[in-house]
Parts: sequence; structure tokens; C-alpha cells
Amino acid sequence: MYVLNGCNNPVKRIIFKSMTQSPTDKGIIGFTTTVPLELIFAAGYEPCDLNNIFVTDPDPGRFIERAERDGFPKSMCNWIKGIYGVIMEREMAGVITVMEGDCSNTQALAEILRYRGVRTIPFSFPYDRDPEVLTREIDKLKKELSTDEESLSEVETQITAARSKLSEIDAMTWSERNVTGGENHLWLVRSSDMLGDVREYTGAAEEFIGAARKRERMEGIPLGYIGVPPIVTNLYEFIESVGGHVVYNETQRQFALPYETADIVERYLLYTYPYGIFARLGDIGREVERRGIQGIIHYVQAFCFRAIEDVILRETIPVPILTVEGDLPRAIDTRTKMRIEAFIEMLEGRQY
Ligand code: SF4
Repeated sequence: MYVLNGCNNPVKRIIFKSMTQSPTDKGIIGFTTTVPLELIFAAGYEPCDLNNIFVTDPDPGRFIERAERDGFPKSMCNWIKGIYGVIMEREMAGVITVMEGDCSNTQALAEILRYRGVRTIPFSFPYDRDPEVLTREIDKLKKELSTDEESLSEVETQITAARSKLSEIDAMTWSERNVTGGENHLWLVRSSDMLGDVREYTGAAEEFIGAARKRERMEGIPLGYIGVPPIVTNLYEFIESVGGHVVYNETQRQFALPYETADIVERYLLYTYPYGIFARLGDIGREVERRGIQGIIHYVQAFCFRAIEDVILRETIPVPILTVEGDLPRAIDTRTKMRIEAFIEMLEGRQY
């Protein structure tokens, strides 16, 4: 499996040996969830999804400990604490905080960051998907970052090429069945910052596609994964070890913006994740049918408000759902393993 890390990380630099673009000297712009990446690249910064840095660190627990030492409560989502810990450790030119359309904790996070002297740049996805409001937000962000319009169209061309490779990887996962659920997750989730270098990411994706096409078709009950990306480390591997194959990663696929439109506002309006459960349901229903999904794993993060959405998902999704909860960045516990195993056995039983 390709295990890449981002944002000036030495692992990335080793993998991307043939860098054609010189690293930016304007610095890194971190962000708390997917934002219009195009604007950051076109402004000459290196984009960095802070979630990915936190969860791929060899010792992610230290970021959580740092946040708790600084007074963050134990009874709080560990993604937020991890993001805070990463920001406290890394030099950044600024952090884009998504105030609407992501997490109910972001406002308080932005406040403490500002208090600590970090340059925070607020950005919002309007809950009602109002195009005028989103246009205003994008224009505000362009101004704040001093995005260069001429570079923007060049960057958009490059990002479109990258996203089309990611769509190919995603399609291979369910149609050719030669990409694992974990690989699908990694390629899509890291599209939020493309590891800071679009062309290198595209090249690495092409290489991966070529290698995956030489594999045998995978067996396993086709499953969907919905909810925020997992903080736990071995979920996909475990699912595959007991006879499942995740062929759809809902949120991660959304991060890769699988929509072909030249208009940036339209692109980020089609993106479902920030606009609530009803915007997501249509996408989930379509993909469950198209991919022949037989069961859904709904991942919820401990202390996350999104767990409430489980009620609606259970009543509307036409296939069986198993809800699993994660808390810390470590391997899944025995109880969760047993529940997943029993769920897949039940689905296998239904097949016959
Ligand atoms: S898992 Fe939930 S509470 Fe945690 S950062 Fe994500 S949206 Fe916020």
C-alpha cells in the first residue's frame, strides 16, 4: 500500500524524488477540512490538511497529549485535539478554519489558535448551499491569500487531471475490484492537499493505477464506508481479513471532488459533505446501487455531534448498517472486531 504523508514531510520528499516544481517559499497554509485547494496553490502556498499530518504521524498520541496539557477536555473529539497539537508544533503561514460546514468545535479551536498568535483565516460553506454566499466566501479567501488569477486557471487544469486519476482509482475499486478499501481511502482522503504537489500526486496516482491493473480481481462482500474518515489505524485491513471489501468511501470520495465542472463555485456546491445529511443521502443512495453494496459501515467519532445523523441514516439507507465508534489513533478494539466479523457473516448468510 502507498503510505504517503504530506506537507513538507520527509516521507513525501523521498517518494516524490523527481519533483519538477520547486517548493514554495511562501510557506504552508494548513486547514481543518477540505477547502478550495485551487486557491492556495494559485497563491503560491503549500496546502496542508492538518488531519492527515496528525493521523499519519508515527506518534499521533503526542498531539493529543499536547492539547490536553494545554487544557483541552478529555471528553472532546480527538481529531480536534490532534489538529491543535499539529499546529502548535509546525511553522505555518496561516490556518484556514472552516467555521460552517464541518465541525461544531471549529469556532472554539479558531479562537484558541488566534489567542496563541496563529494567523487564522475563516472560511464557510453556507448550509443552505446558496451560490451567492459561497461565491463571496471564495472571493474573500482569494483576497486573503492574494491568489493570482492567471495561475489559478493553470492550477485548475492540473487539479482536474489529478482528480480524474483519483476517479479512475475509485472506479477500479468497485468495478475491476483490484484496489483495496484502504488504498481507496488513502488516495481519496489525501486529495484534500494532494500532499502539497499536484503534479507529483498525479504522477504517483498514474503509477499506482498501472500497478493495480496487473492484480487479480479481489473477492469479498462489497461494503460501503460512510461518515468521517477513521481515526483508527487498521479498520480496512481488518474488514478485508474477515471477508469484506470496502468499495465506497463516502466522505473521502467527496474530498476528491468527483465533479467535472470548470466553475469553481459549482464544484464546491456539488460537494456534499459540508451541506448536511440530506445533501449526503442522495450521493450515498446512488453509490450503494451503482456499486452493488450489500452493507454499510457507519463510522462515528467519539464525542462527535455527527453521531446523531446515524438515526436518519439507519432509517433511509436500503442495506444493513453497522455503526462503529473510534476514539484514539490506534488499532480497533476486540469488541469492534467481533461486531464487524459478525456483520460480514450475516451479510454472507443473506447471499445464500
Ligand atoms: S469527528 Fe466530528 S467532532 Fe471531530 S473534528 Fe470531525 S466533525 Fe468535529
